[in-house]
Amino acid sequence: MDPQRSPLLEVKGNIELKRPRIKAPSRLPLSGSRLKRRPDQMEDGLEPEKKRTRGLGATTKITTSHPRVPSLTTVPQTQGQTTAQKVSKKTGPRCSTAISTGLKNQKPVPAVPVQKPGRGKKPSKRPAWDLKGQLCDLNAELKRCRERTQTLDQENQQLQDQLRDAQQQAKALGTERRTLEGHLAKVQAQAEQGQQELKNLRACVLELEERLSTQEGLVQELQKKQVELQEERRGLTSQLEEKERRLQTSEAALSSSRAEVASLWQETAAQAALLAEREERLHGLEMERRRLHNQLQELKGNIRVFCRVRPVLPGEPTPPPGLLLFPSGPGGPSDPPTRLSLSRSDERRGTLSGALAPPTRHDFSFDRVFPPGSGQDEVFEEIAMLVQSALDGYPVCIFAYGQTGSGKTFTMEGGPGGDPQLEGLIPRALRHLFSVAQELSGQGWTYSFVASYVEIYNETVRDLLATGTRKGQGGECEIRRAGPGSEELTVTNARYVPVSCEKEVEALLHLARQNRAVARTAQNERSSRSHSVFQLQISGEHSSRGLQCGASLSLVDLAGSERLDPGLALGPGERERLRETQAINSSLSTLGLVIMALSNKESHVPYRNSKLTYLLQNSLGGSAKMLMFVNISPLEENVSESLNSLRFASKVNQCVIGTAQANRK
Ligand code: ADP
Ligand code: MG
Repeated sequence: MDPQRSPLLEVKGNIELKRPRIKAPSRLPLSGSRLKRRPDQMEDGLEPEKKRTRGLGATTKITTSHPRVPSLTTVPQTQGQTTAQKVSKKTGPRCSTAISTGLKNQKPVPAVPVQKPGRGKKPSKRPAWDLKGQLCDLNAELKRCRERTQTLDQENQQLQDQLRDAQQQAKALGTERRTLEGHLAKVQAQAEQGQQELKNLRACVLELEERLSTQEGLVQELQKKQVELQEERRGLTSQLEEKERRLQTSEAALSSSRAEVASLWQETAAQAALLAEREERLHGLEMERRRLHNQLQELKGNIRVFCRVRPVLPGEPTPPPGLLLFPSGPGGPSDPPTRLSLSRSDERRGTLSGALAPPTRHDFSFDRVFPPGSGQDEVFEEIAMLVQSALDGYPVCIFAYGQTGSGKTFTMEGGPGGDPQLEGLIPRALRHLFSVAQELSGQGWTYSFVASYVEIYNETVRDLLATGTRKGQGGECEIRRAGPGSEELTVTNARYVPVSCEKEVEALLHLARQNRAVARTAQNERSSRSHSVFQLQISGEHSSRGLQCGASLSLVDLAGSERLDPGLALGPGERERLRETQAINSSLSTLGLVIMALSNKESHVPYRNSKLTYLLQNSLGGSAKMLMFVNISPLEENVSESLNSLRFASKVNQCVIGTAQANRK
């Protein structure tokens, strides 16, 4: 028997082997219906068994239909195990488990003893006639078949049991599978989640790596910086050490300096005491200087007259020689001239022979005479000391008297063109005052200056420093007392301008010239027909000694002193001119009268008779110092007017006005 062959197949084979024998036409006559049965009928006899076999075949088929479960056979257990092992090797552990489970429950099916006719021992063929024998054989055969059927039934039963077991197992396995699938799904979900987390973690890792690289870069940078800082620190430390060394040296020097300073303090205190003593002495000397200066001025006379003769201008006729002579003084030609001699030939005084009478000589003596060649500086030099008296608190008044064209404006303001050499008394006097005030500031004196400039025309006062709409034709001004009971006079509507330097004074003179120019076009050479009064109010203070002094410096360019020609026809213009001249003559004669009254110490001084004397009353007489320039034209045609001027000036010169008192508080 083939060891591989299934017992079921073996059974089937046995059955099939028998068929030909059944199908073979019996040569024996068969009795009864049984004997007459055809092989198919015979087969019916075997039907239950066959059917069982088929059913088994079907069972086997069912069993084998499961690809993973091998067909259950009645192989011996060892053989079955071997097969199962072989299959399990192919199908994996899971199948082997199922199979082994199935096999465990499977009882070993005893092999059906098939009686096979041995090849060598073939049953002896019964003779056809031996029906009984044949029947006997058939019965034996039937019996075997029945046994066999029984065995197969048992086997079938076992197989069905096994099948049930296997189905239960399959069911259990299905449940298990589902559970496992559930698990698998969970595990897969977990795996996905894990993968997602892994992905996230990778991203995190990448980010962290990036940050790490950035941090590493930073760390490197910081390390570099640290190195630099350490380097710097080393440098600073060495510097610090150096500075500390220097500090120590400095401290040593400081302590020695302190000792030095202490000794210097002592020295300074001694010096300060000495200085104070010297200052005291200096102040005493300054006061003495002022006293002596004043005495000198008084000796020179509180009213002085200087005569100035202007040069012949280009285009003017040369005067005859000897018209004006300047005899030298008692000290010879080196002495400054004080005398002037004017020769006048009187045409009316003819000799009997018809020849002209010799010219009459008129000699005049003044405090100083300036011939035509005298420069502005020379003139100023002579009055500088007088101007300085104003700083010491004495009112000073300087007039320029003379006919029109004699050089009054030239003397007071200066020549045209802004030539510094031709600068007149006003700019020079102010410059001098500013510089002396500066010197006196070293002795504790503080000075301030306020300037005003007005003109008096036909007894009306007009501001020459007017600006804006009032320029050139400013409204009339009035002379008023500065306050009730005050001696000080002020001009209403006039500008009083504080000045502290030459430039400011220059600007004021320029403005005055402009104002006069405007007036000139309107009123025909009014400037020569009016008095121009430049006044500077000076205030000085010595705060540490509580001293104050104040005075005014008045520089007056008088109107032309010429008389009106009595032979002129009196047209409307001439009448106006006459009125002007009368006003001028009146104010000039009032000036003369005031000076006379002061000189004669009369109780009444007619200041109020003219605007000019009223405005100047504080600068005339009393403590005031007065200087009159009499300006003379060198021309022959002006001899008569020159003579008049010289006579007026001589009268003034004869006046002696009382001892001046410094206006000190
Ligand atoms: P006044 O004011 O008396 O009318 P000015 O001062 O206007 O006279 O003088 C008349 C002219 O004579 C001006 O051109 C002036 O420049 C000139 N003049 C006057 N005095 C002198 C002088 N000392 N030297 C040179 N020129 C003079
Ligand atoms: Mg003039």
